[in-house]
Amino acid sequence: MKFGGTSVADLDRIRFVAERVATEISKGYDAIVVVSAMAGKTNELIASVTGSSTFYDAREYDAVVSSGENVTAGLLALALQELDIPARSWQGWQVPIRCSSAHAAARIESISTVNINLKFAEGMKAAVVAGFQGISAEGRITTLGRGGSDTTAVALAAAFQAEQCHIYTDVDGVYTADPRICSKAQRLDRISYEEMLELASLGAKVLQTRSIELAMRNHVTLRVLSSFESVSDASGTLVCDEEKDMESKVVAGVAHSRDEAKLTLISVADRPGIAATIFGALGEAGVNVDMIVQNISEEGRTDMTFSCPTDQVFFAQRALECIKQDGILNYSELVADTDVAKVSAVGIGMRSHTGVAARMFKVLSEEGINIKVITTSEIKISVLIERKYMELAVQSLHDAFHLENVGASAVEMDTGLC
Ligand code: ADP
Ligand code: ASP
Ligand code: MG
Repeated sequence: MKFGGTSVADLDRIRFVAERVATEISKGYDAIVVVSAMAGKTNELIASVTGSSTFYDAREYDAVVSSGENVTAGLLALALQELDIPARSWQGWQVPIRCSSAHAAARIESISTVNINLKFAEGMKAAVVAGFQGISAEGRITTLGRGGSDTTAVALAAAFQAEQCHIYTDVDGVYTADPRICSKAQRLDRISYEEMLELASLGAKVLQTRSIELAMRNHVTLRVLSSFESVSDASGTLVCDEEKDMESKVVAGVAHSRDEAKLTLISVADRPGIAATIFGALGEAGVNVDMIVQNISEEGRTDMTFSCPTDQVFFAQRALECIKQDGILNYSELVADTDVAKVSAVGIGMRSHTGVAARMFKVLSEEGINIKVITTSEIKISVLIERKYMELAVQSLHDAFHLENVGASAVEMDTGLC
């Protein structure tokens, strides 16, 4: 069971979570409970780090930022003990959850089940694990990137071969779009790993992308549930393998990502090796490049456009200016547009249906929304647009693909497509 920040926002909420855990234990289960920091705490800790030091040491960043989860783990263990449930808190290093040394973006390499299982054998009924953190080979605390408690939960579920992994959050499941910006969004009863992976990587932060990769690889059945409402075995959204009837959903959902930026290198040479030089330098600078477009060449020169998260623009600019100064890459100008957002339509049915892109572009044009960059994969179409149109684009696409009718059962939709 994993509880996110709003689910453990104060002592009352923590007591409520303890009761929910107690209900599962009363059914005969031992529980591993993963907790996030209290709502807003991680942002506050990050602000303290960036306020203390401009070029901060990533190891100390992780030492500070991981601490929010330690507090909630201890408090939930205390709340469970108040209910006479033998409970103990576990920080990442105590489990231990072994991670790579990539501070602030560490990957889980292995989890030992020995210590926790020993305590279960001695009568512990609930192991409350601090999410989002682990320990590197150098013995330092590492964190798993924003939203990383989801990944902690799935990794533990895989390691302990849990029957299910329940992710409790502030919405009652996965919706056809973020219910906070699309009032017609519908909760899905189930969604395939693949679609959920695309939605999450395109901005639907209800699950961290890596948690879905891990669940898919280890066949962990995930259920996303509300921590605020009473739940049954059929509540929420099941994230699972694709089923036959899922093929009928042309578009399963619309995702958005607000913090995108578009950078264009004007007039770079159009010859082998230039793209490798540009994206090699960006990779080394830790910039996550998403969309890439190269214009048609004129007189041996071309423009190269790419997108990345807004908070990485500075690093991208610095990396590209460095290779220009060193004479490795020649370009006339680097133009940054930090006022864009990405909106995407996702669905397995796109594999076998034509016309989805055409419909999407028509809807956006009818709303007067200009498309700046387009990318596609087998099951998604993404566009970069001016940020002020993001909500409108999500709502119009939701309407155009009749997602208000998807709801509980994945029936054949009238998509308006032939
Ligand atoms: P937690 O703190 O529990 O980890 P998050 O804030 O990380 O919760 O994720 C839950 C949020 O994800 C919701 O409040 C919702 O606004 C957002 N969200 C974005 N896209 C979706 C979607 N398709 N379905 C459900 N929630 C979504
Ligand atoms: N507290 C961390 C964050 O806010 C991890 C998490 O909540 O999953 O990103
Ligand atoms: Mg989250």
